[in-house]
Amino acid sequence: MHSYDLKGITVLFPFPAYNCQLNLMKKMISSLQSGQNALLESPTGTGKTLCLLCATLAWKEAYVARRQLEEALLKGLKAEDGSKQELLQRLTIAVSNNPRENFMNEPPKIFYASRTHSQLTQAVGELRNTAYRPNVCVLGSREQMCINEEVLRAPPLSRGNLCKQKISRKACEFHNGLENARTHVNLNLANTMMDIEDLVKFGQTHRACPYFLSREEIAKADIIFLPYNYLIDPYTRKAQGIDVKNAILIFDEGHNLESSCGEATSFEISTTDLSVCLHEAQQCISVASSPGYVEKDASAEDFAILRALIQKFRDELLAIPLSKDNDLIKPGEFIFQLFSNISVTFDNVDSLLKVIDSAMDLIAEVSHQQRRSTKMALNGFQTALKTVFREGYGEKAFEMAAICKSYKVHVSSQFPTRPVRDAWGKPLEVEEARTLSFWCFNSGIAMKDLVERGARSVILASGTLVGS
Ligand code: SF4
Repeated sequence: MHSYDLKGITVLFPFPAYNCQLNLMKKMISSLQSGQNALLESPTGTGKTLCLLCATLAWKEAYVARRQLEEALLKGLKAEDGSKQELLQRLTIAVSNNPRENFMNEPPKIFYASRTHSQLTQAVGELRNTAYRPNVCVLGSREQMCINEEVLRAPPLSRGNLCKQKISRKACEFHNGLENARTHVNLNLANTMMDIEDLVKFGQTHRACPYFLSREEIAKADIIFLPYNYLIDPYTRKAQGIDVKNAILIFDEGHNLESSCGEATSFEISTTDLSVCLHEAQQCISVASSPGYVEKDASAEDFAILRALIQKFRDELLAIPLSKDNDLIKPGEFIFQLFSNISVTFDNVDSLLKVIDSAMDLIAEVSHQQRRSTKMALNGFQTALKTVFREGYGEKAFEMAAICKSYKVHVSSQFPTRPVRDAWGKPLEVEEARTLSFWCFNSGIAMKDLVERGARSVILASGTLVGS
């Protein structure tokens, strides 16, 4: 290992570092010392990921050392030895230039985000080449980590709900196996630097669910590798128990971030999708009205209210007057008007989301029992609601006007260009289909939320940031 003193921090690097690498690590450390955000550009092939990891982990080690030394001094370790005070001072300067930094806080967690699963696997591989051995956690989707064959055979959109069903009925042997794995296996996952493939193999060997094993590691991890959307989507953050307060958020391959932020804050839904939602809600009413139905979180009445709301929303959409070009563009706040016309607001949206969750659970269970696939269109309606009533927006109504300026609502209508006929050539009455789009033109919306939630530093790193 090669050792470099950068801005008062000792950084261990696996190779002799080039000047551009030293500069990048210095910039990274400066941002962490000042708790600022940074855009770091370094051409492809310059070992950017390795530099980011080494600089951040070296800084964090110094932070932990600073904290431990102060704790020891507070507990009575004699400070008359001038060298200890000197070391404390040196570490204080190296770690932070904020005079109000409270070193008794938990050291910041590091979240390392990239767009694709393979980029994350590569980053974990880079980390293995360093001298640093932090506690590591890698988060992936159920798609990547579920090992229950029965659930994997279900359509992708049903898997999450099916998994929940199985857990509540204690019917997944791998979820049941978690306790056993915790007691009988030396579960030192966090310090083994496993990537997703390793975790899946580990889960298969020990008959324990890798998806939930990885989530249990979040609390003790120093560094968490995860896809972008786990950080930028507030509902996913909440569901995964991710708290960004005082955290360091590194977005690698940051040129991809803009489109991911745009996707996380926009949606599109059509009246055809809403018709399928109506059908799904109707299915739920039928099942929940049957004598054998055991009510969990929602009743037949709740599903009937859901159906009525979706029907009204669909009618509202079809009733919007369009231009002669068969479309309409409105400012962002129009979306709230549309939802308030069906009485959905920040105050009641959480209850509605819970009913949709229950409906999707029920549909997943019924379609699984009947061995048929389902579209799970309700998932799209739920996404629309979560995008509009984004977690945190309701707390700052005074900012809504500014937020809405970043959005446009677009409604478009499509009629078939040619008459549609049945098998006997008889023209069919074809319904107009409309698409509602809620487009976000400011990727800063998603990033601002992270900063407002108290992230210590948000770092965007890429080979090509300028002009992207
Ligand atoms: S608990 Fe794990 S293995 Fe079981 S269904 Fe859920 S994700 Fe799959």
